[in-house]
Amino acid sequence: MKRIYMDNNATTAVRPEVIEAMLPFFHEHFGNPSSVHWAGRAVSGAVEKAREQVATLLNCSPAEIVFTSCGSEGDNMALIGSAEALKAKGDHIITTTVEHPAVLNTCEYLEKNGFRVTYLPVDRDGMLDLAELEAAITDKTILISVMWANNETGNIFPIAEIGEIARKHKVRFHTDAVQAVGKLPVDVQASKVDLLVISGHKIGAPKGVGAIYIRRGTRLIPLIHGGHQERNRRAGTHNVAGIVALGKACELAGAEIDENYAKLKRLRDRLEKGIIEKVGEVKLNGHPTERLPNTLNVSFAYIEGESLLLNFDMKGIAASSGSACTSGSLEPSHVMGAMCVEVSLAHSSTRFSLGHDNTEEDIDYVLEVLPPIVQRLREMSPLYNCKQDNCDNCDTVKML
Ligand SMILES: *Cc1c(COP(=O)(O)O)cnc(C)c1O
Repeated sequence: MKRIYMDNNATTAVRPEVIEAMLPFFHEHFGNPSSVHWAGRAVSGAVEKAREQVATLLNCSPAEIVFTSCGSEGDNMALIGSAEALKAKGDHIITTTVEHPAVLNTCEYLEKNGFRVTYLPVDRDGMLDLAELEAAITDKTILISVMWANNETGNIFPIAEIGEIARKHKVRFHTDAVQAVGKLPVDVQASKVDLLVISGHKIGAPKGVGAIYIRRGTRLIPLIHGGHQERNRRAGTHNVAGIVALGKACELAGAEIDENYAKLKRLRDRLEKGIIEKVGEVKLNGHPTERLPNTLNVSFAYIEGESLLLNFDMKGIAASSGSACTSGSLEPSHVMGAMCVEVSLAHSSTRFSLGHDNTEEDIDYVLEVLPPIVQRLREMSPLYNCKQDNCDNCDTVKML
């Protein structure tokens, strides 16, 4: 059976160049980079090279990069570390209703520990009102946290403008850039962020490694206490192979950024246009243009997303119904809810997220097998049949 992977916002395959770069660090160069002897020295250079590769991609100094175990750790570190460092100054945090659970659930945790959080709403396209953001700032506001790009819709937020607002009010600014890095140019100077989080497995490095940019002079209380690694900002023996991999993946991302953007956008636009034309009665979820080049989130009227995904899977197509973290639950995604997508459409929301390995043939295949699947499922749907019959009972059916 054909296997087509279109769930790259959930995770990516490790790039062969990345595997090659990391392999020597399991056996040949196995040392602990904190050791002073030859075995450690051979490895500490590799960790510092990776730090430079990450810093180059983000346009910062290597000393401003701290390696973590994942994107979620980075978000926890930014939020909890800031809250604890700044609690004498204030107790108020501003974020959005459409953040990744790594931010939302951390905010909830902070609320249980005495902090107040404003969750900014989004409009039907999933975008923020920056006047509302600015109006939410008080003299007790210690942190603004807004993601660079949304994992479910691909929506891109105006990070440079938000950075400008944060600077003006002297409020610290964190962005979860896990989905933006590798797909868009991400520059911490131009965007005026103080904290920025990335994750390896979303950009062709393995699972279990990430990094956080901490602008020089930004005080954070560590999450993990122990040894003196990472200038006392994150204890724990370095995941050397993972860090080397993250560095290599960042180097590749930087070198290929324009080519990658153009390719992903070409494929995604063809998929989007093809689905709209061939299927009909679909709704695009997210902003029509301010969107990652690889992400397409659509709702297919009259159908349950789960049955769509199972039928795609039977044809070898891996897509997702929003975020990997919420699938398995029957609740529609919090992002669709925040955008006021009608409940039945929210249930059929399906995300295709393309990646480095997708080809024109993949798009051909999906556009060939998807319309008959949708048609068959629609024919089994009471709502759809009701509409076909023009029955005057539709309100009753809608209640089901
Ligand atoms: C995947 C993801 C995370 C979490 O990263 P992990 O490395 O899986 O912990 C955080 N934020 C966004 C936007 C993501 O897509």
